[in-house]
Amino acid sequence: AAKAQGRGTFHFYTREQTDSAQQRVRIEAELRRALSGGELRLHYQPIVRLADGAVESYEALVRWQHPSRGLLLPAEFLAIAEESGLILELGHWVLDTACRQARAWLDAGTPRRVAVNITVPQVLRQDLPGLVSAALAHYQLPGHLLELELTESLLLQDPERGAQALKALKALGISLAVDDFGTGYSSLGYLKRLPIDRLKIDRLFVRDLPGDSDDCAIVCAIIDLAHHLHLGVLAEGVETAEQAQFLIEHGCELAQGWLYGRARSASAAGD
Ligand code: C2E
Ligand code: MG
Ligand code: MG
Ligand code: MG
Repeated sequence: AAKAQGRGTFHFYTREQTDSAQQRVRIEAELRRALSGGELRLHYQPIVRLADGAVESYEALVRWQHPSRGLLLPAEFLAIAEESGLILELGHWVLDTACRQARAWLDAGTPRRVAVNITVPQVLRQDLPGLVSAALAHYQLPGHLLELELTESLLLQDPERGAQALKALKALGISLAVDDFGTGYSSLGYLKRLPIDRLKIDRLFVRDLPGDSDDCAIVCAIIDLAHHLHLGVLAEGVETAEQAQFLIEHGCELAQGWLYGRARSASAAGD
C-alpha cells in the first residue's frame, strides 16, 4: 500500500517497491527464525580428481528448508542475509556444521576435507581466525580437513585487513581457495603476497568449453598461472565429458560439477 493515501498527496512508494520492501522484511524475519529453528541445511558437492574421478573433498553449500516454500537455494536468501547482517550468524552456523560433518566423516573412517564459502563481512567485521580456531578445537578437527573459499572482492575492499586475516587463518593449517576466479577486479599481485592454495575457475569460463576459443584461452591461461605459482587449480561447473576432456588435456587437476555429482545431503553425499 502507498504510504500517503489522502487526496492531493503523492505516493512515496509504488506498489511494487512497497511489496518488495515488505517482502524483504518478511524474509529477514523468517531467516532469523530459520537460524534459531534449525531450518538451514548444508548440502555437499563432490570435488573430484580429473585423472581418475576420485573424490578429493566436498564443498558445503547452504540451503534453506522453508516450511512452506520448500528447499531454497542461496540465490533466494544470501543477499538478504548480507544486507541484514544475519550473514555473520549464518556463516558461523555453516562453519560449525561443516566442521561437525568433517569430524563425522573422519570418525567413519572416510576422512574428507570440507570447503566452506566465506563472505567479505565474515573476514572484515569479526574475528574469523578466532572462530575457525574455536571450531577446529571443538571438533578436534585437523586443520587440513578444512578449506575456506574466498572471493577476490575481499582483497579489494580492505587488502591490509584481508591479508592479515588470511595469514592468521593459514597459521591454523587450513587451506585457502579463491572462488569464482577471473570474475573479480583484483590485480594479480595478491596471488604473490597471500597464502592462497588453490584457484577455482568460475563456471562462466567453463560453460562453453571446448567450442569457444576465447574461453579455451582464458582457462588455459588460468591453469598455467596456477601451475607457475605452485597453486592447485579446479574447474567449476563441469557438466559434459567434452569439458572434462579439455581440462584433462590442459593439465587441470580438479573439477566440480553436475558431471560428477550435484550437492546432496551429507548422508546421500557419503554414498
Ligand atoms: P559457488 O561457491 O561458486 O558454488 C558453486 C555453485 O554452482 C553452487 O550453487 C553449485 O550448486 C553450482 N554448481 C555446481 N556444479 C554445477 C554445474 O555443473 N552446473 C551448474 N549450472 N551449476 C553448478 P549454489 O549452491 O546455488 O550456490 C550459489 C552460490 O551461493 C555459491 O557459489 C556461493 O557463492 C554461495 N553460497 C553457497 N553456500 C554458501 C554458504 O554456506 N555461505 C556463503 N557465504 N555463501 C554460500
Ligand atoms: Mg564456492
Ligand atoms: Mg565458485
Ligand atoms: Mg561460481
